[in-house]
Amino acid sequence: MIELLKGKPVSDSIRESVIRQVEEGNGSAPKLVILRVGDNPEDMSYEKSATKKLSGMGINVVSCVLSQDVSADDFKSEFMKINEDESVDGILIMRPLPKHLKEAEQWMTLSFDPEKDVDGICPVNLAGIMRGDSEAFAPCTAQSVIEIIKGYGVELSGKNVTLIGRSMVVGKPLSMLLLKENATVTICHTKTGNLAEACRNADIVIAAAGHAGLVGASFVRDGQVLVDVGVNVDSEGNLVGDINIMEIESAGVDVKITPVPGGVGVVTTAVLAEHVCMAWTKKNK
Ligand code: NAP
Repeated sequence: MIELLKGKPVSDSIRESVIRQVEEGNGSAPKLVILRVGDNPEDMSYEKSATKKLSGMGINVVSCVLSQDVSADDFKSEFMKINEDESVDGILIMRPLPKHLKEAEQWMTLSFDPEKDVDGICPVNLAGIMRGDSEAFAPCTAQSVIEIIKGYGVELSGKNVTLIGRSMVVGKPLSMLLLKENATVTICHTKTGNLAEACRNADIVIAAAGHAGLVGASFVRDGQVLVDVGVNVDSEGNLVGDINIMEIESAGVDVKITPVPGGVGVVTTAVLAEHVCMAWTKKNK
């Protein structure tokens, strides 16, 4: 039998904590700037949803939109204005940026005020995550995986975790967060020899590959917890994860699974709000 570990109860609990903290601010509010280049529909949809959710928690969200063909110099100067603005507590950059801004993006990560880097992209925060520093901001998606696992009371300490994916946005930072929780982590990727076996051997499997239905019945066994980070669109236009829930269900395996949609993604926005709130609280200390 499959038990679904939905994101909503976890995100609700983070949301309530953020609202409480903002209310204690006696009228002042945290401020997040979302910096977007171009009109990518996925970016715009995430921006709209994040703005609605964070505003509902009392966070002031402002969008800064630059044209798709913005020059590197103009991009840098707009970014620095926000980075140096004392009224701004957090900055979220919609990535990937257009290809012609590759160098400017590198420059930006090095110039980022780490205290405002609420999605954990700058080297100072990434190094902090490697050290296990709890003040460092981790990328929101990576952090939301930890929140959903802990939110359901699943023990990580001493457990074998197989993680599929080694990107800088999800896999690598997440592996460090899992290590901090005393899990034993196996990181898999496209060159991994026997992915199914590596998954079957784990207590917890985390799929962050961006490959629809990659984790099927032959990858799992009874008693496992499966966390699906993948967001893919299938041939019929539906949002699906990396885990093939239907196949696993038909095989009659007893596992707990985070659904897509309605799992990790829901928690990610709540973690973003929490990070903005942390940055604001720290600034006002
Ligand atoms: P990415 O940069 O494309 O990295 C994918 C990783 O998975 C790579 O390390 C790749 O291995 C590995 N991989 C891909 N296909 C594989 C396969 N068949 N077998 C084994 N390993 C495989 O993607 P990402 O940015 O990390 O994102 C991963 C997924 O998470 C995507 O679906 C993305 O949409 C989703 N995502 C979700 C959220 C959320 O809030 N839920 C946020 C961000 C991203 P190599 O290194 O060998 O290429």
